[in-house]
Amino acid sequence: MSHEVEIVEVSPRDGIQNEPILLSTDDKCKLVTRAHAAGLKRVEVTSFVNPSKVPQMADAEAVIEGLPAAQRESGIALVLNARGYERALASGIGEINLVVVASDTFGQRNQGRDADQMVALWHEIAAKRPKVVRTSVTIAAAFGCPFEGDIPLRRIAELAEAICTQRPDELALADTIGVATPRDIQERVRAVQPIAGDVPLRLHLHNTRNTGFANAWVGFEEGVRTFDSSLGGIGGCPFAPRATGNIATEDLVYMFERAGVSTGIDLDAAIGLAQWLEKKLGITAPGQVMRAGGFPEGVAA
Ligand code: ZN
Repeated sequence: MSHEVEIVEVSPRDGIQNEPILLSTDDKCKLVTRAHAAGLKRVEVTSFVNPSKVPQMADAEAVIEGLPAAQRESGIALVLNARGYERALASGIGEINLVVVASDTFGQRNQGRDADQMVALWHEIAAKRPKVVRTSVTIAAAFGCPFEGDIPLRRIAELAEAICTQRPDELALADTIGVATPRDIQERVRAVQPIAGDVPLRLHLHNTRNTGFANAWVGFEEGVRTFDSSLGGIGGCPFAPRATGNIATEDLVYMFERAGVSTGIDLDAAIGLAQWLEKKLGITAPGQVMRAGGFPEGVAA
């Protein structure tokens, strides 16, 4: 069992997208670059969505253009439809992540399409995707929906199967509204793993009901090695009522590192960056390690 995980930093997208204070393009680029310096080598840098619905993401092209080439190459841009995909492709971003919402009601509100229509779009995109771009798929609301409630496990398995007929580079299961418990994680990861086969799984967790870190740990025990998180635990979804923070990057780093699982991330640098971001957004971030600090050094006798 490998004792390394990869943490994908999502604050520049999921973290800030719902924040009323708009970060400047320059600050967004700084955030990505400082995240890299802290060891967060894979960053979700933006999304190509309708700027009238998500004003914080209006400068998606400019953010990508403002990044050094290596950060563009390792970056992820999120898309919800064909137009977003075309914009992302033209931007030179290294990875494009398409969202398929498991619940049809939420899918209609989030991107005007139900799950089957989104799977069909994925098939279209996948069939003609250029080799230079990595393409991944996220199944959103995979553990529950704000409008429909429970999403049957059978439905998630069905969607994963349909998606994987055109192999994505990675398949993410997202607890978009933070309702999952460790048992749900175990059940759904176990169901999807054999379907995904050699397609690596990623977990996208929110800490809305304080189960996010327990969920991440169970995901690790079940063999998942890639996790999304956001500095300071900031985050929310404009289309999901009461959806709050992602799991906090520095809290996740603390948990894994103290448990002997390597993240490659400098905890102090991550804490410093979470504090910087909190100040920029004028909020009190929900992250806890950014206040408590890391493991005490102890005082030499
Ligand atoms: Zn999210």
